[in-house]
Amino acid sequence: MPSSFDSIGLVMQEAEPLKPYTTFKIGGPARYFARAASMEEFREVSNFASKIGLPLFILGGGSNILVNDRGYEGVVVHPSIRGIKVAHEDDEFVTLDVSAGEAWDDLVRFAVEHGWWGIENLSHIPGQAGAALVQNIGAYGQQVSDVVKSAEVLEIASGSPRVLSAAECGFGYRRSIFNTTARGHLIIMRVTLCLSKHGRSQLDYPDVQAYFQRRGIQQSSLTEIRQAIISIRDSKFPFPREERGGNAGSFFKNLALSESEYATLRDMLGRNFAPEAMERLEEIRNRLQAVGQIKIPTAFLISICGLKGYRIGGAQVNETQPLVLLNQGGATSHDVVALAMHIKKTVREQTGVRITLEPELVGFTPLELAEIKGD
Ligand SMILES: Cc1cc2nc3c(=O)[nH]c(=O)nc-3n(C[C@H](O)[C@H](O)[C@H](O)COP(=O)(O)OP(=O)(O)OC[C@H]3O[C@@H](n4cnc5c(N)ncnc54)[C@H](O)[C@@H]3O)c2cc1C
Repeated sequence: MPSSFDSIGLVMQEAEPLKPYTTFKIGGPARYFARAASMEEFREVSNFASKIGLPLFILGGGSNILVNDRGYEGVVVHPSIRGIKVAHEDDEFVTLDVSAGEAWDDLVRFAVEHGWWGIENLSHIPGQAGAALVQNIGAYGQQVSDVVKSAEVLEIASGSPRVLSAAECGFGYRRSIFNTTARGHLIIMRVTLCLSKHGRSQLDYPDVQAYFQRRGIQQSSLTEIRQAIISIRDSKFPFPREERGGNAGSFFKNLALSESEYATLRDMLGRNFAPEAMERLEEIRNRLQAVGQIKIPTAFLISICGLKGYRIGGAQVNETQPLVLLNQGGATSHDVVALAMHIKKTVREQTGVRITLEPELVGFTPLELAEIKGD
């Protein structure tokens, strides 16, 4: 039964169900749960966790995690620090200090309303502003690292604050030091972003181009771009609000292949699929040219393997964007993991490509994680 106590000046809830805090609407309880609204409160929660010898997990908007049905045997801390402040402004740029607990999409709306460019294509991504840096969120040609100046963090071990430059955050495709080398060691408290007052629209993505062509719009405003992105996203998969349709966005990362990996994929497609699959692959290759690597959407491989709509228990591969796994009501973490493993195995067997999971799995043992993430 959930209960709460107040031993450290903070309300610490026991056996708090995590399901409502996740966009998948899946998962059991946390042993302890607290909200922290200041650096001092984060320190207190972190000290509490180390005193009782339990791990600490930072839970933002819960939109990039899958929590085990068993729950999390540790202390969960939820950032509730809010605020967006203009730190500096001139004719060209505006610098914003954004607290970690601010909702990311509220920040995008705020920037668009003020006519500030740089994050409009990242509209309608759930989660908190602090967490946006963790996997360096990206969509429709923009990524948050394009506008990050610095991040103020709390070092869990020492309890000391630090300011990291963008370079020190180590951003890459869906990665940063926060989900790799410094994972679990730093809490992002505040993010400083630099937005442009005279930006240029980035509308290279086919879906976005088609949206504006259909409407005969040549010069799109920031508000129109935001509206376009929201509309395109809504047409592909549900923005998770309820249990049915719950999801964690892309469940798999996209691929960046070397020439030799691409050649292997081409061979496999030639052997295992109809000629149209190969034609489509070549067309994708030509369209998504990138220096030194070949970008292939994982959704393409999942589709040609015939997995759209595939279902295990309450978990289903989304029909319109098969990178997304949906909770169709009553799905368990077990259903989602079984479905993800089936997809990985099928794609591996039929295309030779090893695909990797994007969301963090919370409350799983190292052995379970090795099995899920391995081949
Ligand atoms: C419908 C939908 C669409 C999505 N679309 C996209 C998309 O287009 N592009 C994209 O990149 N992602 C997308 N995502 C994934 C997700 O929204 C982002 O990764 C988001 O930034 C996660 O934020 P969150 O607050 O929900 O983090 P959570 O899921 O709560 O946490 C994710 C990770 O960040 C860590 N973390 C959270 N807050 C902090 C902090 N303050 N300090 C340190 N670590 C922290 C957590 O411990 C965890 O490891 C989508 C998800 C959904 C459900």
